[in-house]
Amino acid sequence: MADAATVSALVREATARLAASGAGSPRLDAELLLAHVLHVDRTGVIANPDAPVGTGAQAQYEAGVARREAGEPVAYIRGFREFHGLALATDARALIPRPETELLVDAALAEVSARLTAAPRSAGAPALRVADVGTGSGAIALALLAALRARRMADRVLVVATDASAAALELARENAVGHGLADHVRFVEADLLPPVVDPPYALVCANLPYVATAQIDGLARELSFEPRVALEGGPDGLDVVRRLLDRLPDVLAADGVALLEIGADQGEAVIEAVAARLPGWRCSVEADLAGLPRLARVARSAVAGPAEGAVA
Ligand code: GLN
Repeated sequence: MADAATVSALVREATARLAASGAGSPRLDAELLLAHVLHVDRTGVIANPDAPVGTGAQAQYEAGVARREAGEPVAYIRGFREFHGLALATDARALIPRPETELLVDAALAEVSARLTAAPRSAGAPALRVADVGTGSGAIALALLAALRARRMADRVLVVATDASAAALELARENAVGHGLADHVRFVEADLLPPVVDPPYALVCANLPYVATAQIDGLARELSFEPRVALEGGPDGLDVVRRLLDRLPDVLAADGVALLEIGADQGEAVIEAVAARLPGWRCSVEADLAGLPRLARVARSAVAGPAEGAVA
């Protein structure tokens, strides 16, 4: 019988194949896919170059590499993605959570914590209501709740997580159950938000589709594996965001805040959209770790965010 292939030989071979297929990070992908079939983390692969790989694992690995060669994202092949410290199940039912969206979770966490700390609630007081509009895999709702649970605050919050896609909501529910958070989140199938929202939300979070239609087909091949409705936002990308802005007066509490993820080139446009549709309201835009405009903070005039009206 031939000697089993080694970890380093398999990674080398797959890296060459993935590079030839146009993958952006072929070596990383090869390591992650091998780690996945070996049930170890990536360090386990890097630290054991001479370890033999059994034929069963090798066959599984080849299958994963072939899917990646065809452009499928690593997160769909592995079936999960790390997001804000959580391993979230990912598949073609919903957008893969992106690292830049962790910024929105941090901002939401700061808002909720500040509100719960500023006005300590008596036992039996109603929970603070948060909406995650277009929840997809449940990433924002669940990362926020997991972080609140670590601060012993999750019991004082109810998150309503909506999506127009029943399939996405199913995945989000699976993630909520998997992380023991299902009691804190109510999933609702709705276009943006249900017609009647009562009482209003203290916080509305949304990572809506915001890619301009003309840009979609020019983007990386990986994106064609994700639901197009989770990405496509019309001619300038902001169609869905504008529809949500129009609902804010009805759904946001008087001192409420909306946190909306936007594209790096949409800072000015979203400020203009708020000025045109929500007279007297404020909109500020914050940058992500790469220094790119990423988060729009929208509130009624009474509660100004930092750096009002400025594009960071
Ligand atoms: N940031 C994502 C991308 O460009 C877009 C996500 C979205 O439309 N909400 O891949």
